Amino acid sequence: MAVGGGTRVAGVIGWPIAHSLSPAMHNAGYEALGLDWVYVPIAVPTDRLAEAVPGLAAASFAGLNVTIPHKEEALELASGASDVARQIGAANTLIPDGDGGFTADNTDAIGFERAVEEVAPGALDGAEALMLGAGGSAQAVAWALRNRGCRVTVANRTAERARGLGDVIPFDPDAIDEAASSAGVVVNATSLGMNATEPPPELPLAAIRPGAVVVDLVYSPGGTAWLRAAGEAGAITVDGRGMLLHQGAASFTIWTGEDAPLDAMRAALGGAAS
Ligand code: NAP
Repeated sequence: MAVGGGTRVAGVIGWPIAHSLSPAMHNAGYEALGLDWVYVPIAVPTDRLAEAVPGLAAASFAGLNVTIPHKEEALELASGASDVARQIGAANTLIPDGDGGFTADNTDAIGFERAVEEVAPGALDGAEALMLGAGGSAQAVAWALRNRGCRVTVANRTAERARGLGDVIPFDPDAIDEAASSAGVVVNATSLGMNATEPPPELPLAAIRPGAVVVDLVYSPGGTAWLRAAGEAGAITVDGRGMLLHQGAASFTIWTGEDAPLDAMRAALGGAAS
């Protein structure tokens, strides 16, 4: 659909943002439903979010996603927030508040839950979960795991960052392997493995139980080397694009009021986003 005078404008704020798959995914969704909307990447330097958010509100943006490094500050800048955004301590979705500003929400946790449910229904419920990482996305994943009654063990290179997310263990191979050997769910929420052709040695592999659910938040076409190796070793694997798809779909519905066309949005991410 061509952009016209009545087109509603949404977008994603980040720095850098050129790599984002969200514009392709959301625009495919608008196209599939025939909505007169457009979704654009918005490059906002690390120290300029406090200028950008009121400016985008003044420019009548109909919805914003927020990504690295702005999620925590976006929550602070919002006029209000959902319970989940407040509890996670970060916002990935801003919604016009009808009063010239934005309220904050966080769809990362529900995106994670739905991505796992799609591949392994019920696997999260009451599971022993091992999470590697304690950054912004790990905060949302830990919230989702606890929400599903998981017992969460967490290992992070910077141990103090992991405090409050679960039972903290050292970020060393023995401790990680021991936790992995009893986990039903293993999540990589670090940025390890992004451009790797081999599984990063810091991530568990041999110790993971066959049949365990392994989730990699990192996404690359065809899955990461770690996820592929875990699958070959008998794990049920969940690709990072699944979480990307479902957090985006939840934001799409909040802004437009329409059920998100998952097939079209998934295809825009390159196919099997689960
Ligand atoms: P972040 O806040 O920058 O956190 C990065 C995490 O990775 C921290 O736990 C950090 O440990 C760890 N880390 C980085 N380099 C490491 C290394 N060399 N060795 C060990 N640990 C290392 O980033 P984030 O927002 O949480 O994102 C993490 C990853 O998830 C990224 O790859 C991102 O693209 C992906 N992600 C995917 C989705 C999705 O929808 N699939 C959503 C959000 C994020 P320290 O605390 O010690 O620095």
